[in-house]
Amino acid sequence: MSGGNGLGGADHGSAGRGPCTAPRTAPRTASRTAPRTGSRTAPRTAPQSCAGPLSDHYDAALLDLDGVVYLGGTPIPGAAPALAAASARGMKLAYVTNNASRTPHAIAAQLSAMGVPATATDIVTSAQAAAHLLADRLGAGSAVLVVGAAGLRLAVRERGLRPVTSAAAGPLAVVQGYSPHIDYGLLAEAALAINAGAWYVLSNADPTLPTPRGPQPGNGSLAQVLIHATGRQPVVAGKPEPPLHAESVERVGAKRPLVVGDRLDTDIEGAFRGGADSLLVLTGVTRPADLLLAPAEHRPSYVATDLAGLNASHPQVTAADGRFGCGGWTAAAGGPGEAWLAVSGSGAWIDGLRALCSAAWSAGLPPGSPEEQRRAAGLALAAIG
Ligand SMILES: [Mg+2]
Repeated sequence: MSGGNGLGGADHGSAGRGPCTAPRTAPRTASRTAPRTGSRTAPRTAPQSCAGPLSDHYDAALLDLDGVVYLGGTPIPGAAPALAAASARGMKLAYVTNNASRTPHAIAAQLSAMGVPATATDIVTSAQAAAHLLADRLGAGSAVLVVGAAGLRLAVRERGLRPVTSAAAGPLAVVQGYSPHIDYGLLAEAALAINAGAWYVLSNADPTLPTPRGPQPGNGSLAQVLIHATGRQPVVAGKPEPPLHAESVERVGAKRPLVVGDRLDTDIEGAFRGGADSLLVLTGVTRPADLLLAPAEHRPSYVATDLAGLNASHPQVTAADGRFGCGGWTAAAGGPGEAWLAVSGSGAWIDGLRALCSAAWSAGLPPGSPEEQRRAAGLALAAIG
């Protein structure tokens, strides 16, 4: 049986699970605030199989953008036709982003210009998830001090709340999202409001923001100013916290969502915590070595080189006597004094990776420092080409 139905329960994969033949089933009640740890089930020790295309089996894809559909603003080759094919098979597509600075209209326009037709309602932002959290707790028309950009102010207004910029306006909450133009005066007002008892909410806690020049401080880093100054910890709406994925499930009415992303610590962990299945694509930040060394909460249900994996079946990994087979490859943990993992065979590289994931996730981490562990993973990966 396949795994979780979606972001409301914990049902995580394990080795030897059969193909995804289960019918699309009713959603669980998604909580937008209660975090889930997934500790009720055994850790996943192998990628899952799916006898047919994922886009036939799951009714909605909750797609991350950067590293999945585009990379730093440049379309990822093959993404547009893969998404069109998934949509033609009846899969609903929602684009789910931790970016709280741009409006859904702006993001939809960018996607459409890349050949990925999208409207503002197809875009779900952490700003919207944060505004939803605020609206659940505050009365209509309540003042909210917004430390952020246009996308966040709009989301707050759309939920019937009133964005303000001063502590003197008596805000019941402070909501903070990334903006490249945050100034000291606004941070000072926010600190005063939080100290006066305002609820503190963050759109997302990403420490960095990828740019062509390298990582730059993201909202999670900017938030440290207010956390340090007030001693208060915010509630976070964005991935991997549950509210954003729950908002997305609600938006598209997904009964059996598949989270699709390129980051293990946001997209995949978010799916894990919400009890949904996930597809990792290798077009963004995650390197194959990261996958082999991933802790349980970062292990995706499926792995594919790119979004073409949405419309493909995913082969079974067979396990026998500590050896894991996929396609033409067989992988196993090395013996004492040997390399961490041993792999042999030939065939599609991605099947070799799936076999290696199973061996690695079953064996546990190799000994040594993080650098030595990465070397051990690199050695295993070199053997599949
Ligand atoms: Mg990404």
